[in-house]
Amino acid sequence: MLQKNSVIELAVTALTSEGNGVGRYEGMAVFVPDTAIGDRIECKIVKVHPRFCYGRLERLLVPSKDRIEPDCPVGRRCGGCALRHLSYGAEKEAKWQQVQDAFDRIGGFSLECQPLVSTGMVDGYRNKALYPVRERDGQVIIGFFARRSHEVVENLACRLQPPEFERIAGVVRDFLQEERIPCYDEGSCKGLVRQLYLRKAFATGEIMVCLVLNGETLPQSGRLLERLRDMRLPIRSVCLNVNRRSTNVVLGERTKILWGRPVITDLLCGVRVNLSAQSFYQVNHDAAELLYQKARQCAALTGNEVLLDLYCGTGTIGLTMARQVRQLIGVEIVPAAIEDAKVNARENGIENARFLCDDASGAAQKLEKEGIRPDVVVVDPPRKGCDEQVLAAISRMGPRRVVMISCNPATAARDCARLRELGYALQEITPFDLFPRTTHVECVALLTK
Ligand code: SAH
Repeated sequence: MLQKNSVIELAVTALTSEGNGVGRYEGMAVFVPDTAIGDRIECKIVKVHPRFCYGRLERLLVPSKDRIEPDCPVGRRCGGCALRHLSYGAEKEAKWQQVQDAFDRIGGFSLECQPLVSTGMVDGYRNKALYPVRERDGQVIIGFFARRSHEVVENLACRLQPPEFERIAGVVRDFLQEERIPCYDEGSCKGLVRQLYLRKAFATGEIMVCLVLNGETLPQSGRLLERLRDMRLPIRSVCLNVNRRSTNVVLGERTKILWGRPVITDLLCGVRVNLSAQSFYQVNHDAAELLYQKARQCAALTGNEVLLDLYCGTGTIGLTMARQVRQLIGVEIVPAAIEDAKVNARENGIENARFLCDDASGAAQKLEKEGIRPDVVVVDPPRKGCDEQVLAAISRMGPRRVVMISCNPATAARDCARLRELGYALQEITPFDLFPRTTHVECVALLTK
């Protein structure tokens, strides 16, 4: 039996969906962060469960051929990139395997996944950054939360963000420092500036700068605007979001415009999308376009269909298909997202779309009662997947095709297996890398009746 603090030698033979390497020691699985398949390591056991253990990498005895020198100085402390020590080729293979394993083991399918789709852009792909702002020893710190902690690791130069973000974060930090604006302290819930929130519309270049405040106004805000203007970047919106609650939820409900427009405008698969501070939006623009193209191809639209887009967010997936269908119905539970979806439809001159603010299962049952018979249903649920009632209602509506987009292969495989029981056959699974260097992987599955 392994004991806490014992040091063992381990061969890493697999990678978990959380990005931990796994090896077996006397039949026990040992999970070790920051390792790669093929590593021989010495590790210290830090946590013992009845059936598995966690270890910490102490010494790399024989490095895996998949290893590369991590190119981020704060990589091991920051909670963002768990795979930066792997070559991107090895990362893609691991992600493909993760999706394949989920559909094999959880779904009980025997269908080989399509090759993983990636834009190949592994740095600077994020169009949104949320940096916690804190103060340590009189210095303003802007960075990211450390793994499983609320300690802020200073890092303006995160490689996942576009280069403009580093420059803006630097200017904001200097402003806060020089004007002595108090930053937030989580312990006492005092201090004003909680987060710096940046968004960029990749297709147009437009940028939004937002400060999340534990208060209503920003002292010396005119000086911040001057500094931002002097950067000569396409900043189109500067705003303040008010969040006075002591909570981990980042954004408060109210956003005030300090300068410029309330939204920035992006183009996604030819659809104009307005992004406010609050709007949900895919963070990797170029990869999202590939994902949506795949979803559209799976939907195989001819112009006559009724298309139901469940968990539609601000409507983007459905809207990119609206011109190929007779009618589009989008369903989403967050009221503000539905309002955004309606505006997005109107601004694109799309008149055959209807958006409902409702729970997916409630809406699916109501639409079923209204006698709506969609030809194609697209679902894009959150990580926990679709509720049982949603899948049951979909099967009763009887669409020819169901296109499932998912950010969690495990629940996608479970839900596809449920749809198989309800009369649908899985035709195709395609993994997508929307979040290079992190452990997240998406997939698109096509099922037909
Ligand atoms: N399809 C969108 C958003 C997908 S994210 C896009 O690609 O941009 C998943 C969405 O499901 C979120 O917008 C979330 O608010 C919504 N959601 C979560 N639970 C829901 C439920 N029970 N019913 C309807 N929508 C829900």
